Amino acid sequence: MAVLRQVAEGVLIHQSEFLQSNAVVVQGRAGVLLIDPGVLGYEMAALANELSDSGQTVVAGFSTHPHWDHLLWHAGLGAAPRYGTARCAADVRVQLSDAHWKARVAEGIPPDIVEQVPLDLLGLITGLPAETARIPWDGPQVRIVEHQAHASGHAALLIEERGVLVAGDMLSDVLIPMLDLDDPADPIEDYLAALRLLEGVADDVDVLVPGHGSIGGADQVHARIDQDRAYVRALRDAQVPSDPRLGPATYGKDWLPGVHERQLQRLARRSERDGTPG
Ligand SMILES: [Zn+2]
Repeated sequence: MAVLRQVAEGVLIHQSEFLQSNAVVVQGRAGVLLIDPGVLGYEMAALANELSDSGQTVVAGFSTHPHWDHLLWHAGLGAAPRYGTARCAADVRVQLSDAHWKARVAEGIPPDIVEQVPLDLLGLITGLPAETARIPWDGPQVRIVEHQAHASGHAALLIEERGVLVAGDMLSDVLIPMLDLDDPADPIEDYLAALRLLEGVADDVDVLVPGHGSIGGADQVHARIDQDRAYVRALRDAQVPSDPRLGPATYGKDWLPGVHERQLQRLARRSERDGTPG
């Protein structure tokens, strides 16, 4: 069975069984760009096989942000250069400088899949110089839309000629916005600014590929931006969000309400500490 599904001309995805994670393949002139390759070892192996069976080599990789589920790689995918933003790469460098990094990363992986997540090649990325506008590769231009939101150095990617926005962990239909609460500045305002940035490119988007969740059409782009903004504002104002993703019949019904509670608590603690209201 084919692992990859085409979502736009020359753009294919593989959706993982784990958290509906989307790996993205962009076809270039001499090979493909692979964005957030996947999570489970056997899925990445199958992806590698399908690419090589069809005579396609991976010529570049990209990680949208420095969280383990976006930093993995499989030996079968080859040894192409893998990139991230400068901030993303700096964050990964700190993670990997810990002698016990593998154990630490493994602690954050759900126990039922941890054995199936190959960590050996995690995070071997090169940071692109700050303000780099496009991924350096021989294929459709891929614009880097960097912002501070979910994680340090988070980047969405706009494949302009194909009308595809690869959103990283923003604009999901299954996950609520998860803020970078380690961010020393203002995670709420940063997140809202990131949504404004994505709004600025929204009209060029026909296909929205979130890091986790379903692929959206043009009509979904503004809808998901609005939905994320409403959630973040409710969080800021400590109101009860009427967010469909937190409902009783949803993908994350067993654990997302807990994520939401923890975000509320951490924001409350931050504002106590800073002495700032809200
Ligand atoms: Zn993720």
